[in-house]
Amino acid sequence: MKERVDGKVYLIGAGPGSPDLITLRGLRALRKADLVILDKLLPPTFAADLGSKAETLWLGDDAVRRSQDEINELMIEAARAGRTVARLKGGDPFVFGRGGEALDALDAADVPWEAVPGLSSCIAAPSNAAFTLTDRARSQSFAAATARRAGGGVNDRFPSADSLVIFMGVEALDDVARRLIDSGRPSEAPAAVIERATQPWERRVSGPLGEIAHLARQGRAESPALLLVGAVARDAGTRRTLLYTGLDPTNFRTLGNLIHWPALHVVPDRAGYEAVPEVIAGLRSVRFSVVIFTSRIGVRSFFREIEKHRLDARSLGGTTVVAAGGGTAQVLREFGILPDIVPVTAGSRGILRFTQIRKDDELLVVQGTHAPGGLCEEIARRGANTTRLGLHRVEPNPDLGRPLPDHDVIYFTSPSGVRAWHATYGETGFGAEPWCIGDVTRQQLAEYGIDAKVVNPHVPD
Ligand code: SAH
Repeated sequence: MKERVDGKVYLIGAGPGSPDLITLRGLRALRKADLVILDKLLPPTFAADLGSKAETLWLGDDAVRRSQDEINELMIEAARAGRTVARLKGGDPFVFGRGGEALDALDAADVPWEAVPGLSSCIAAPSNAAFTLTDRARSQSFAAATARRAGGGVNDRFPSADSLVIFMGVEALDDVARRLIDSGRPSEAPAAVIERATQPWERRVSGPLGEIAHLARQGRAESPALLLVGAVARDAGTRRTLLYTGLDPTNFRTLGNLIHWPALHVVPDRAGYEAVPEVIAGLRSVRFSVVIFTSRIGVRSFFREIEKHRLDARSLGGTTVVAAGGGTAQVLREFGILPDIVPVTAGSRGILRFTQIRKDDELLVVQGTHAPGGLCEEIARRGANTTRLGLHRVEPNPDLGRPLPDHDVIYFTSPSGVRAWHATYGETGFGAEPWCIGDVTRQQLAEYGIDAKVVNPHVPD
């Protein structure tokens, strides 16, 4: 008799890499898993960003890297030990993803599995840049192909669709372009290379097919990247490319064709945890009359922390909740809190203007430890008591310094972002039109002699 396997494996297409482009079914499966195996195509924080607390193996890490057979073996062993495994694949598992081989191995070992479709990068990369794969006038067909054959040689049979998407092509770009031209595509045909589509440090290079390999090299395009050829690569229009240097681009995509180059990154701040016992006690005894959240990350880290103490949204019952802006308010809603106050003016100034603070009030301010002390000082001046909870801080992003991609507008969301950018790129980092989120950031830019425009996205309440 065969042994019964208690665990199971979800083979999940995770999409092109931005965590919010996984499907709902994929997310639900991920939440059930106690072991996550993450493709190297996906960012290492992908599962954690979606709230997974499961043990995670990221295959991009040299110490963890394994062959396909070893990964299959690992999944089988885990399932036999009763674990639920989420194998997250970039894009769709069955588009150049060797998903079929994994399923054969699981079947042979009698491991129950479920496959979840994902958004393939060949659809997401062009779509995210507003390149259209089909067009009633110019593109009646599209096709995807790989640049390489099994064994490593360059592919020499490309489909003849109006729009063509080619996988795994950066090192083979010269060869691929030449073969396409030899087989009849005009060397002036539009072409584009999109690297790391939808992920931080995305880069797009466009030009005629005959020059695209050279242009991509000049633009320092790296893997993973896709080559687009034909109708799909036609200039997507006149929309500006906006280089967004803030932490979370979610609410800024209406401002332009956005690519995300995060000047800062978030790190947990151990020192901030000293305040936790006092905050938990304060929440339990309903001491705080006002709680102020100044950022989305602040909200998330607050709820993650109080959950460890078996507290939830109810611990804010009867408390006036203030969200610094529309984005923070949105995240609070995810946790079941409708903020009482969302100031229309950004930053501390807005909070202080719209929040009633009385003498002897007890306030809790949830704010990164990097934030200046101005808000708490002003609250103290009004005679109230503040407890400040900061579980994270932002630091200059260690990946900063990559050669800049083409862009029309550069967008800043904080003075510390401006400082990190300036420290890395100097004046050459500000060649495009500078925009920013508010006056405080504009002043920081002015200190470097840069005259920026304040432009705010529309954030629905
Ligand atoms: N199953 C995946 C493809 C895996 S093959 C899918 O459906 O998208 C790996 C190749 O996919 C890479 O070499 C690159 O050509 C492409 N790719 C995957 N994710 C990408 C991304 N975010 N941006 C650009 N290319 C990507």
